[in-house]
Amino acid sequence: MKPNSARILAMIGFLFLLSACANPTSTPVVLNATVTVSIPTLTPTIAPAETIVPTLTAAPTLTPTIAPIQTALPTNTVVPSPTDKPTITLTPTPPRPPTVDEVLAGCPTAAQVASINADFKMSFEADLTVGKFVCTATQGSVDLTLMQKRAYNILLVAKQITFSKPLPWTDKSLYAWLAGTIKGIRFRSDIPFSYCCQPANTIDIRVADNEYIVLTDRWVDPRSGGGLRDTFVLLVHEARHNEGKPHTCGANDNTIGELGAWGVQYDLLTWLADYTDPAFFVTTGAPSNYVRTLTKSEAENIRKTRFCKPE
Ligand SMILES: [Zn+2]
Repeated sequence: MKPNSARILAMIGFLFLLSACANPTSTPVVLNATVTVSIPTLTPTIAPAETIVPTLTAAPTLTPTIAPIQTALPTNTVVPSPTDKPTITLTPTPPRPPTVDEVLAGCPTAAQVASINADFKMSFEADLTVGKFVCTATQGSVDLTLMQKRAYNILLVAKQITFSKPLPWTDKSLYAWLAGTIKGIRFRSDIPFSYCCQPANTIDIRVADNEYIVLTDRWVDPRSGGGLRDTFVLLVHEARHNEGKPHTCGANDNTIGELGAWGVQYDLLTWLADYTDPAFFVTTGAPSNYVRTLTKSEAENIRKTRFCKPE
């Protein structure tokens, strides 16, 4: 070996040692072995997690399906009948016959008025209810004042009443007897009391503000205990005079049995109480036997006061 080569080798060895000392983290390298290369410890660089921004897909536009509103019902809607429709058997209730007060409250028909006018000449010479028609021809009746209506209705009731036992003084119906006995009825305010017979076959009935025909529509008015029943009985009393039956004991009669005006009045009240249909005489606002009881009581009052020779 040449001296220069020795120097160069020495220099390389020196520099090598110098570099080994300069890097303390390096693994020492043994020169007489395989060259060992110092490998630096790598600190891995981790990339930050990527923030994922989702891509929004636009919501689809929804088109609602709305059923159209029906604005009108079909005109030809047919409701089907159920096939198993129950059969309802109705037992018809026959209409209840009117009571006496219902007859008296109503208006007689034009035909009824005509029928009564054919049997009686009705003369309304005084009328405290004049000025207003309570029944009219346009209603199917006749133009009638309140008192006129009551007069016709009393005779209408006379037509309807039937007795379960014959009347003591006639074998006719009450109305037929009355129509056969007198021909006219005068309503007058110029007489102090009712009487018979002026003119012939005509009875004269007093009209005053204390007479029932002016006071009430009721057969027996619970407010007074009297009513059109009393006017009805009065017509019969006066009509009986026209059959040759004047009073035989002053203003009274001797006996019930002679069947004068008072005897007929007593009998009529008794027959009304005992031999008529009680349902016909039911009156509003009073017990069911009210009319019968008062009528019986009135008959008894006549019996006690109107006969000179009690039997
Ligand atoms: Zn008399």
